[in-house]
Amino acid sequence: MIDNKAINMDTLNRFLFDNHPVRGEITRLEKTYQSILENHNYPIAVQNLLGELLVATSLLTATLKFDGDIAVQLQGDGPLTLAVVNGNNQQELRGVARVNGEIADDATLKQMVGNGYIVITITPKKGERYQGIVGLEKETLIGCIENYFMQSEQLPTRLFVKTGVHNNKPMAAGILLQVLPANENIQASFEHLSALTETITGDELFQLPTDEILYRLYNQEEVRLFETHQIIFKCGCSRQRCEDSLMTLPASEIDEILNEEGGKIDIHCDYCGKHYLFDAIDIAQLRNKRHLNYH
Ligand SMILES: [Zn+2]
Repeated sequence: MIDNKAINMDTLNRFLFDNHPVRGEITRLEKTYQSILENHNYPIAVQNLLGELLVATSLLTATLKFDGDIAVQLQGDGPLTLAVVNGNNQQELRGVARVNGEIADDATLKQMVGNGYIVITITPKKGERYQGIVGLEKETLIGCIENYFMQSEQLPTRLFVKTGVHNNKPMAAGILLQVLPANENIQASFEHLSALTETITGDELFQLPTDEILYRLYNQEEVRLFETHQIIFKCGCSRQRCEDSLMTLPASEIDEILNEEGGKIDIHCDYCGKHYLFDAIDIAQLRNKRHLNYH
């Protein structure tokens, strides 16, 4: 095993079992998760769900075999109208939720989302975009994502995800186990490894070094732990992007907003909480830059 004594949060590691055709990933999120929660006042149940979604997306992006982006989006007709996490294979993640109504602390997935589904969009840098839709057929988000793996890759996959609070900070972490392709008859050993992984607690995932977690779970097994990847919160918003979307609006509409909002257009990013302000002078400069007519 690689020496990995420090408790590195916001990291992802892959691992392999030498004696079983099964691979694993472990991901632990602290700052990334906090960045997603900090500018919002989400109900507790939504905070937990976003934590699960974040862990699941991190684990999912680590299964990509190419450069690209992934979006895991929950939508429905319940009080949680939208929850989405975007990630890429550099483990840059961001996420947001929209709530419209009351959500109890112990609300179930169904109570939050109502009639809904999960859309998983994978956009490779080169090649075709892929979109998979999974119904909310299981009681938990994680159960639904396991279904997605079964449907899309035909590979038995288990996710073990915990969210909680440690040292007054929200944390989210999880482990993925997946049968390697072309191994049909390993149900017994996959169940055995899953049963071992099932015993992990939130406290262990939030507090122990990665190699110690793997040792606690699999000390009867030969496990190879691979290099550590850093996970960061990164929002793709920028002033340039705001300018681009502003300039798609008709000039008259921009003028109207400027009038109504007291001479300033305030574009607010839901993901990171940043504000981008544009006044009449900014707009005039943008129009000049793009050779657009003022009238
Ligand atoms: Zn942003």
